[in-house]
This record gives sequence, C-alpha cells and structure tokens, in this order.
Amino acid sequence: MTDRATAIHAAAAKAASPAFRAALAALIGYPTDATAPGASDALAAYLDHITADIAALGFACRRLEQDGFPFLLASRVEDPALPTVLGYAHGDTVPGMVGRWRDDLDPWALTEVGDLWFGRGIADNKGQYLVNITALAEVIAARGALGFNAHIIVEMGEEIGSPGLGALCEKLKHDLNADLFLSSDGPRLSADTPTMFLGARGGMNLKLSIHRRTGGRHSGNFGGALANPGLELAHALASISSQTGEVLIPAWTPGSVPAAARAALNGLTPCGGEVDAGWGAPGLTPAERVHAWSSAEILAFTCGTPEHPVNAIPPEAHAWVQLRYVVGVDPDNIVPALRRHLDAAGFAHVEISTTDVAFKASQTPVDHPFAKFVARSLRTTADRAPVVLPSLGGSLPNDIFTDTLGLPAVWVPHSYPGCSQHAPDEHLPAAIFPDAVALMTGLYWDIGVADRADLGL
Ligand SMILES: [Zn+2]
Repeated sequence: MTDRATAIHAAAAKAASPAFRAALAALIGYPTDATAPGASDALAAYLDHITADIAALGFACRRLEQDGFPFLLASRVEDPALPTVLGYAHGDTVPGMVGRWRDDLDPWALTEVGDLWFGRGIADNKGQYLVNITALAEVIAARGALGFNAHIIVEMGEEIGSPGLGALCEKLKHDLNADLFLSSDGPRLSADTPTMFLGARGGMNLKLSIHRRTGGRHSGNFGGALANPGLELAHALASISSQTGEVLIPAWTPGSVPAAARAALNGLTPCGGEVDAGWGAPGLTPAERVHAWSSAEILAFTCGTPEHPVNAIPPEAHAWVQLRYVVGVDPDNIVPALRRHLDAAGFAHVEISTTDVAFKASQTPVDHPFAKFVARSLRTTADRAPVVLPSLGGSLPNDIFTDTLGLPAVWVPHSYPGCSQHAPDEHLPAAIFPDAVALMTGLYWDIGVADRADLGL
C-alpha cells in the first residue's frame, strides 16, 4: 500500500501534467456566467461534464433543482460509521468581460502566459474544484478508499447570491448527515502561503437619503436660508465613521477580538500589503481589521448633478453605505442601531432603506478541534505552519454550512490576492496547482485515518 508521502508526490506530479491542464481547460471552456441570458444550457452542460468525472470516482451523483437552479449532489458512502465530510464548489462565474482582457485573451479558454494561466473561473472556482477532485482521486487510487464518507454539493449560482442553496441544504440536512465541512474558494494570504479560513464576514448594503424639497433652489437667492441635504448627509455619514475609518456605532462592531483570533493573526499583513497606514479601528492591526472586525464603506454618494453642476441647493442627497461585519454583530440590530445613532446625532430626517445585498457573517472558532486538525495536516505537508484567518474579508455562503447544517467549516483556498477574480485577466500561477493538490491530498489522507476525537467528533 502506498504511504502518505508517496501519494502526495504522485498527486502533485499529476497536477503538473498536461492531463491536468487539459482538464482545467475543459472546465474553463464552458461559458458559465450565470447572469448571461440563456446561460442555463452552459450551466447544465458544465454540471454534466463534472458529473461524469465525479461518478468515475465511485460517487453516486444526483442532479437536483431548487428555485430554478441546477445542483449536483455527489455522495460516496464507504461506511455509515465513518465521519462524513461535506465539500462544496461552484461552477458559475462572473461575466467573461470579453474584449477587456490583456492581449484580448479569450476568457473562456485557458491561456498560458509565462508562469501564469489565464481564464475566467480558473481561480473562482473551477481551478479550486479541480484541485480538490484531483486530491480525492489520488487518495482513492492510493488506498482503495477515502477512509471517510464524502458528499460534494456543486451549485451554479454563487456569483448571484447562491439562490436555492440554503433551501436545498435545509431539505437535505438529514440525507447528508455530515459531520464536517471542508471546501476551497477565495484567496490564500499570498500565492506561496498555505492558508485556511474559518468563516466569512457578513455584508449589508444600506441607502441613506435626505429629501428636503421637490426641486433645487438658486444658491445665491436662497443660500444661507435653506438647509443643504448634501452637507447634512455628509455630516450624518461622518457620525458613522471617523475621518480615519473607525466605525463609530458600537453595535456595528464585535466589541473585541477573541484571543485565539488575535494570536492567529499575529504578524500577518493582509491584502498583499496594500494597506493605508493609520486607517481603520484604533488598537487593531490591519489583519485584525480585515479578518476579525467590521468596516463601513461609502460605495456611492450623490446630490445635485455631478456630471453637470448647477448653481443650486440640491433638493435631496443619497449615499449607499456598506457594512462588512464579523460574528458578534447581531444582523437584526444593524438597522435599528443606525436609526438610534442617527436620531441621537440630530439626523432623524435621514431615511434608511436596505437593498437586497445581504450576507450573514459566520465563523467556526479558531480553536475548534477540526480547525486545529486541518492546520496540523497542512503543516505536516508544507513543512511550515499555515496562516489561519478567522474570517475571509469577503463573503461566501458559509453560514449555510455552519448555521443551517450546524457543521464546523474549514476552507483551504487555492487562489491568491492578485488573481483578478471578478475582473478581466483572472489567472493563477501554474505552480499553485501542484502545491495545492499536495496539501489537499495530505489532508484527505489524514482525515481518512483520523480518530473521531481528533476531528472534534
Ligand atoms: Zn466569486
């Protein structure tokens, strides 16, 4: 029987082979932009393609539909007494943005430029899916079995808010009967740093408006007598955040950073080092501000006609504000706390409305046994400790797995901050694939031989 090191070596070699590159190119070749008119054929064809691949590994595959969206549920049950790990991937992408890529590259093709591989979805999330499938295949080939039960759920609507995923997981909860959640999406801290994250910040978008009157008034004839909604709203916004970006509404922050999270983030530089000195909550490091705290941003702010200013006091002003928040902030209290705050600051006439952009914060504790198990496994394979982020700064449907299904959830991302996901020129360094496949092969291998107690079960 193959040993762990041999399996890892073999898996990494596969991820560096022409066959892996061809498999990845095939996935990128499906134009799975879920927002495109008539996308449903491409979404279904992509699911057909990966269904065949996963079925070949001995998974029973079910195609499901929820809220009009297709899903794949693949299950490999080796022994009901073994731990059951739920994995996840999404096959949809953001739009291709044809014509805006460097050298006019085709987004729906894998193109090699030096050490980089370009293609829509290579980072988010097709390449990450293929890494994990390649690692699962290697463990099955090397050992004849995983040593655990596995479910993989694949959705085709993540980029438009995961419609149906929550309802489907609620319905399947007892069928799945999973113990642990392990998946891959999002970026590593940096390209060559093994990384895991344990949750995601939530997000809520709010529109703040002041309506003073029905039309503008001459700024000379009325200026000094009439309130200016633009100025008023600027002051209202300034009461929400300090001039250095500190959120001033206590209910919008978690209040403190847990000691385990603080220890995990010690010494880390977030955002690939693109950090403005002196910005954000005082007393916290930049890494804590992104991965363990809240931030409030003005996304847009208008009064009058910016494209053609006229000499008038504008009748109304509007600002679109986004709060990103971590576990510890009560999402049901975000709007009431803002209302109380504005009223107390003299801005009772600021109207608040919410938009449909909302994600819930969720997180598995940094010191959960499964998180520690994954960290140990990654360290054994990489020969260096992985970075452990309490929360991804951005959002993922993680709450469905932690809250709806009640699972400890660990994400091992295989992308990097410079990958240009959601923009033209999405790419990954080719070298990240063998590295990531090695980490995942070691991890699946270790789960298959673990004591339940080591997994926190
Ligand atoms: Zn995305």
